[in-house]
Amino acid sequence: MESRKVVIIGSGPAGHTAALYTARANLSPLILEGHEPGGQLTTTTDVENFPGFPDGIQGPELMDNMKKQAQRFEAEYRQETVTDIDTTNRPFKITCESGKELEAETVIISTGASAKYLGLPNEMELIGRGVSACATCDGFFYRDRVVHVVGGGDTAMEEANFLTKFASKVYIVHRRDSLRASKPMQQRAFDNPKIEFVWDTAVEEILFDQTGVTGIKVKNLKTNDVTERKTDGFFLGIGHTPNTAFLNGQIELDDHQFIKTKNGTPETNVSGIFACGDVQDSY
Ligand code: NDP
Repeated sequence: MESRKVVIIGSGPAGHTAALYTARANLSPLILEGHEPGGQLTTTTDVENFPGFPDGIQGPELMDNMKKQAQRFEAEYRQETVTDIDTTNRPFKITCESGKELEAETVIISTGASAKYLGLPNEMELIGRGVSACATCDGFFYRDRVVHVVGGGDTAMEEANFLTKFASKVYIVHRRDSLRASKPMQQRAFDNPKIEFVWDTAVEEILFDQTGVTGIKVKNLKTNDVTERKTDGFFLGIGHTPNTAFLNGQIELDDHQFIKTKNGTPETNVSGIFACGDVQDSY
């Protein structure tokens, strides 16, 4: 069986950073990239808050640069997705979806997090037919259409702003009357004439016909009024769930399924297994 000193699981910014540092420490890391090489930033456009890029940079380009930087020091990348780690003995045994098995003396978990959905009836079935959690992936399909985005954080603001490049009108539906998003992102949304806010409102139902999404049923949480709103697209921007299911309970997680790390270090409860990035960052 193939045996490595360091295996890094996941290839977002945390995975690339771990790859760069371990490669430069002559540990010849192997990075198993997962289903979404480059992670969530490959689904975003302008990144303006990563230091070192005074004019901003596109998410996919930033991730590509990070990968190239680690590869310069001979980090090896493979398109494999991990389905299991046996943590009972060291070296740890890693099993991939392809059936490939390998051993690692040290494992670094940087599998990130995935978009959350509301859990409404038919929500998942309507993905690709009007429901989306990725404006940069699907925004193009909403040229001159009306869309609603749910959420009050940076993700929702970013999605809404991006969607105004295509849509005729973008409504942001938020369950409170103030936003969680950073001030500049809030301001950009407030200043955008195509964006309108629907405050204190929860989405109760997605309305659809054979063509896809046609509207949403919403409830004003202050008045309890329930109304229907026409929409062609319904975008989720309500945060993320950590990608930890493949650990099958072998690493200690917090109540929200994020990996528990020790006092600000990347150490998990298993010696030799480390975690970094969004998979251990519940904030
Ligand atoms: P957040 O947790 O910051 O925000 C989630 C939002 O969704 C909140 O407004 C929350 O409402 C709302 N929400 C959550 N669950 C539900 C629900 N079931 N029903 C209705 N509304 C719900 O997540 P984000 O993904 O927005 O951001 C996460 C982190 O990533 C932040 O640190 C953010 O700054 C960062 N980020 C940065 C970006 C950038 O700079 N380009 C882009 C995207 C994210 P409530 O406020 O009431 O809790």
